[in-house]
Amino acid sequence: MSSPMTPRGSLKTLCGWGRYPVQTCHVYCPRSESEILQLLKRDLPLIARGNGRAYGDSALNGEATLQMRHFNRLLGFNPHTGQLIAEAGVLLAEILEIFVPRGWFPLITPGTKFVTVGGMIAADVHGKNHHKEGSFVQSLDWLDLLTSEGQIYRCSPSENQDLFYWTVGGMGLTGVILRAAFRLRPIETAWIRQTTRIAKHLDEVIDLFEAAQDVTYSVAWIDCLATGSQLGRSVLILGEHATREELPAKYRQRPLRTPQRRKLSIPVDFPNGALNPLTVRAFNQLYFLNQQRQASQSFVDWDRFFYPLDSLLGWNRIYGRRGFVQFQCVLPLSTAREGLSALLHCTSAAGAGSFLAVLKKLGDQQGYFSFPMAGYTLALDFPMSQRTLKVLDQLEEITLHYGGRFYLAKDSHLTPMRLRQSDARVETFVKVRDAQQWTVNFASEQSKRLHL
Ligand SMILES: Cc1cc2nc3c(=O)[nH]c(=O)nc-3n(C[C@H](O)[C@H](O)[C@H](O)COP(=O)(O)OP(=O)(O)OC[C@H]3O[C@@H](n4cnc5c(N)ncnc54)[C@H](O)[C@@H]3O)c2cc1C
Repeated sequence: MSSPMTPRGSLKTLCGWGRYPVQTCHVYCPRSESEILQLLKRDLPLIARGNGRAYGDSALNGEATLQMRHFNRLLGFNPHTGQLIAEAGVLLAEILEIFVPRGWFPLITPGTKFVTVGGMIAADVHGKNHHKEGSFVQSLDWLDLLTSEGQIYRCSPSENQDLFYWTVGGMGLTGVILRAAFRLRPIETAWIRQTTRIAKHLDEVIDLFEAAQDVTYSVAWIDCLATGSQLGRSVLILGEHATREELPAKYRQRPLRTPQRRKLSIPVDFPNGALNPLTVRAFNQLYFLNQQRQASQSFVDWDRFFYPLDSLLGWNRIYGRRGFVQFQCVLPLSTAREGLSALLHCTSAAGAGSFLAVLKKLGDQQGYFSFPMAGYTLALDFPMSQRTLKVLDQLEEITLHYGGRFYLAKDSHLTPMRLRQSDARVETFVKVRDAQQWTVNFASEQSKRLHL
């Protein structure tokens, strides 16, 4: 698939996790800061890429995509504070493998462990604990950023503060993150005390979320094909890190060890259309029956609790060669019930049942351009098709109507106008990018599409 272009660059066909859109890119795999500097001197815009887990086109640039996976060293750990210093290309999976058995866990984690440190910062990822503990920035002590002038800046909440807060959530458009220091939390066990609740409809699941404000982790899986009085039928999953004392005797001996699970992988692309309302309905029915059968309280290992999808490697191939899109928005608390109901109505009316529909409660936000706001976030996956594009248009309009905004790490469809209508911060971000010359050096296919 690749042909040589420059000594260290090659032409490759790349995409995000959704496999839409696909782009031919000049890909560079720098091994040192000076190699990145050489590329910056050409004054051709480039974008850093982590592990390609953003769904759309945010980690693609036809002119120059910088694959950062060679920046893969752990540089230091302070067992008194839990501070880890890591290069930007280190995978979260690598961190977990080393630190969970030693009694440490990330403060903030997204729903997959196959992301890099740079990717988590650039998207300022949130987890199931955002309502209580915020997004990745809350665990971040500092980062080193290589900017347009070829300088490396140490940025933190107290040093180069503006650069810090534009970079978290800045989607790689402020510079190249080289390394960062962030905090892990001590854990007594590698287990989560999980409680599940079945909600018959949307109002009930929101009531359950509100009643669970003090629980550290919460997430709901919604059956998007449920209609009428069952609209929003969901399974709410709540979790806390289990203490050693709470564990059943069989786990107490070695509380930081969990059973190794065999990873399954999807070896081929499923045929286009394999996921249709019938198959999605069957999946959702099975999922709900299974949840109802399970005990409402159980102990689940960290991998199964935080990363259920990671056990099926390459699951994005289920959607076929045309790929899929994820729609993710957040609606403010004041309009969330009405707005979510409208979004779910639209999805079920279109018969475009989403295989994965995830609802989380979010709290306030710190980053200048980070996605979250206090409210509810809904994420829906759709196989790529002409019909999906129409549904996305409708979902975006509904989101705007209810004062919501969109998660750029998932987006491959927004227009410049809709982005601006959803988020007053966009114009300031663009002005700062122009003023700082970041537009000359840093761009992605997404930033070109959205005029960022
Ligand atoms: C199954 C699944 C579940 C997910 N769950 C969640 C979730 O719960 N919460 C959440 O917030 N997100 C979630 N995501 C999205 C994912 O966490 C983000 O898209 C994350 O940014 C991906 O990291 P990556 O290393 O793969 O980065 P990439 O996808 O390669 O890049 C993402 C962005 O980061 C930038 N970037 C990467 N490295 C650098 C660097 N060194 N310097 C500057 N910029 C850089 C890129 O330019 C791009 O804009 C999920 C994704 C998947 C596939």
